[in-house]
Amino acid sequence: MAHLSWRAHADRIADGAVVLLPVGALEQHGRHLPLGVDYMLAEAVALATAEHIDAVVAPPFVYGYKSQLRTGGGPQFPGTVGLDGHSLSSAIVDVLRGLARGGANKLAIIDGHYENQMFLTEACDLAIREFRQSGREGVKIVQARYFEQFDEAILERHVGGPPLDLAYEHAGVFETSLCLHLFGDLVDMDAAPEQAFKEFPSYDCHPPHDDWVPATGALSNPHRATAALGREIFDACVQGMVRILEAEFRPEGDGSN
Ligand code: ZN
Ligand code: MN
Repeated sequence: MAHLSWRAHADRIADGAVVLLPVGALEQHGRHLPLGVDYMLAEAVALATAEHIDAVVAPPFVYGYKSQLRTGGGPQFPGTVGLDGHSLSSAIVDVLRGLARGGANKLAIIDGHYENQMFLTEACDLAIREFRQSGREGVKIVQARYFEQFDEAILERHVGGPPLDLAYEHAGVFETSLCLHLFGDLVDMDAAPEQAFKEFPSYDCHPPHDDWVPATGALSNPHRATAALGREIFDACVQGMVRILEAEFRPEGDGSN
């Protein structure tokens, strides 16, 4: 979208293109991965999805909700920058409103950051309420997390041994494999932590106990990550997104809906 003129964008929308909005975070991902992982992966999935369906990819929304200790390591690491929940929700409503005002009726948020989910749900809910009140009933927003669009059996097939706990997959095998596949030159496996899988207590405390988090920032051991696994996960996530968008945005008059 950023590379299109407004006329070209308007033509694509008029022809029925879906607008994909990747949303991520700027967040530490251990010492071996870059800060942009969550939005970079969401954007990569969006761009690859747009090769299979008629879609325009909006520039990614790179800031997300605040990193949490037990899912992202927390905000104490330099370079981790999070938004207050209401800031994220209202900024995303602004983006959705702007896209819809420009004529887009088919919108899809592709989320790459675990902590974003409910604030994006809030944004979609507020946006749909506003669109209804202003007589724009035709706008539909699909909200999906790219990292839920694949079969976890892929992980077991590649890494063997005990299945990975995706709840602790922050800078672990999953994200590291995707980064090796997509941006291998940004990954420093020599800096990858040797620590074992991090177990947390079953509750949170405010202010948080920063010492619960390993000093590296990674929550599980990424050493079994490979580019081949990353390719397989990536392709599966893209296929998953394509299936979702084809089902939700079938052309009008297609009775199979
Ligand atoms: Zn991440
Ligand atoms: Mn994250």
